[in-house]
Amino acid sequence: MGLYGAIEAGGTKFLCAVGTGPEDLQSVTRIPTTTPEETMGRVVAFFQAFRHELRAIGIGAFGPLDLNPRSPTFGTIPTTPKPGWSGVNLLKPLQEALRVPVYLETDVNAAAVGEGRWGAARGLETFVYLTVGTGIGGGAVVHGRLLHGALHPEMGHIRIPHDRERDPFPGVCPFHGDCLEGLASGPALEARWGRPPESLPWDDPAWDLEAEYLALGLQNILCILAPERIILGGGVMENRSLFPRIRRRVEELLNRYLPIPALQGDLEDYIVPPALGERAGLLGALALAMSG
Ligand code: ZN
Repeated sequence: MGLYGAIEAGGTKFLCAVGTGPEDLQSVTRIPTTTPEETMGRVVAFFQAFRHELRAIGIGAFGPLDLNPRSPTFGTIPTTPKPGWSGVNLLKPLQEALRVPVYLETDVNAAAVGEGRWGAARGLETFVYLTVGTGIGGGAVVHGRLLHGALHPEMGHIRIPHDRERDPFPGVCPFHGDCLEGLASGPALEARWGRPPESLPWDDPAWDLEAEYLALGLQNILCILAPERIILGGGVMENRSLFPRIRRRVEELLNRYLPIPALQGDLEDYIVPPALGERAGLLGALALAMSG
């Protein structure tokens, strides 16, 4: 049946693999993100070893990305703080060397596709994957397809109420200050509390404020997209005590207004962790390659 290629393209490393599913993910290889020429050259060389069996490649990449097929710069990273990578085309070197279809998405969109195919959103038509880590980003699958507009959604930068008496912290987003990412990402937690989030005890009151902000953000997403489920991933969500706090607060904020059956209980099956764990990025890219 052939093999599919997967690339998880990050600011520090590109993970590459080939396979056909979660039970068959082979030759996982880590290539450091150095210069575009060197890194992309090694990525191409990795896949050349499989070129006779390779059907397609999926890439989940750090963004922002130009994903508009009609754009002359389709497939590029328009601007990134990563030196040397602004304007780099991620699609072309692979397409030209390997002559197979290559599908590119943001890392969070790819993770959403992977969770939809094999993970926590299996069988659902409309769902959201939100990652809360060094940034906050969201991917939405609507009627079985990834939601794109003029750009991919940037759910981390929505505005939420910010009570400056309770939390005088101005936020860390260089563009908006106290948008959701500015208030609730990992770097925001570290800057506000003066220590990395993983060192804050699970019962620290810092997490109540974090749950409040994430619940406010989720309420906006919920009211706009009415998803069947929301998956929360990323490093900050490793603190599993956030889940019950967020569910409780979302329930209060919605005040039983939305007649979605899954929203009537304690939201345990509505706001959930990812199912694919640390392989989510690679499996998301693999799912992109397989779903074309
Ligand atoms: Zn922002």
